[in-house]
Amino acid sequence: MLKIAKGPAIRAATVLPCVLALGLGAAIVPKAAQADAFDSCVASKWPAAKRAGVTRATFDAATRGLRPDPDTVRLSNKQAEFVKPIWEYLDTAVSAKRISTGRDMMRKHRDTLAEIGRRYQVDPEVVLAIWGMETSYGSFMGGHNAVQAAATLACNGGRRGDFWSQQFAAALKIVQDGHVPLKDMNSSWGAAMGHTQFIPTSWQAYAADYDGDGKRDIWRSIPDAFASTANYLNKHGWRYQETWGYEVEIPTSFDHRLADSKSKRTLAEWQRLGITRPGGGSFPRPSDPAYLLYPAGANGPAFLILRNFDVIKRYNNADAYALAVGHLSDRIIGSGDFSKAWPRDERPLSRVEVQEMQSLLTRRGFSTGGVDGQIGPMTRKAIREYQIAEGKVPDGFASSRLLSDLKRR
Ligand code: CA
Repeated sequence: MLKIAKGPAIRAATVLPCVLALGLGAAIVPKAAQADAFDSCVASKWPAAKRAGVTRATFDAATRGLRPDPDTVRLSNKQAEFVKPIWEYLDTAVSAKRISTGRDMMRKHRDTLAEIGRRYQVDPEVVLAIWGMETSYGSFMGGHNAVQAAATLACNGGRRGDFWSQQFAAALKIVQDGHVPLKDMNSSWGAAMGHTQFIPTSWQAYAADYDGDGKRDIWRSIPDAFASTANYLNKHGWRYQETWGYEVEIPTSFDHRLADSKSKRTLAEWQRLGITRPGGGSFPRPSDPAYLLYPAGANGPAFLILRNFDVIKRYNNADAYALAVGHLSDRIIGSGDFSKAWPRDERPLSRVEVQEMQSLLTRRGFSTGGVDGQIGPMTRKAIREYQIAEGKVPDGFASSRLLSDLKRR
């Protein structure tokens, strides 16, 4: 939740390169000095913990003998150099196994899910899909401890030390309030906790006690975890029974510059521009605003994206994640695969390659507003202008093919 940090499986797969870029710089410091530095850093978190309502007794008990989590140190310093293509990400995220387990879980928890769906006005299959994405339906909750992971991130010298100090204090308060024993506070290396991977401050804001035992226990109570996720989606503006978006077909003659998240139109207007659904069905609620998304350029599947897609992105701010959750939820309730194939002979560019592309575009007079390795609106616009000048489809997609074209000419 507020996914700055996630389990390694998902973090490694995300298409956002390098979300965590924290410095360590302790490699050559002797071990004993490192331990002292960690101890004094943890001790320095006391005033903030006290302000968060943590007692001295809780603080002392939880920090006695606390050591940094070596996985957290290692993984938070790792920079993703190569970006996984979205189709590879989806192959794993929405695998046949994950779909069939999702269907089993839907049968197993049908009544609870239906009741939670009605109470929070959130579609149950989406709650299930998030559970499936986050921890493979509770089968992998990370194997780390939230207090230890948050302390490590707060004390490893990274740029977001204050944020992690806040998470550390929140984690201590959760233990103090008796929702879960410290030893059972299972998390990812990035302190995302329990079945549905809430970071501690998200837990404080959104976790729910569905089974009524007074504990908001997203670690050991599946109904609590479902209700917490449903509450999170509800509070971020979920629209019940209005789905996340539709796969669509683009007419042969089409202005591909309209594929832009800033360019919203009603479904009826998109239809007037020639956009259809595979198989020819109609769009429910033609007045819904939507934008057109090509996750892999005009050669791959295209989607009209509705409001709920952005609500899913509040869980993890990546189009690939939201598409995986949306698609997995559809598959769980019986929909088929996307009708159009992904362009598997292409690949997205690494950060260094994006910089190279930005330099080449800029040199040709298509300004990218800097050479930062990030594909923002200026870079997308520059790609489209270049594509138009070259008589190509202006989808703004930074592919390996685009880069080799730029290098050749
Ligand atoms: Ca409970």
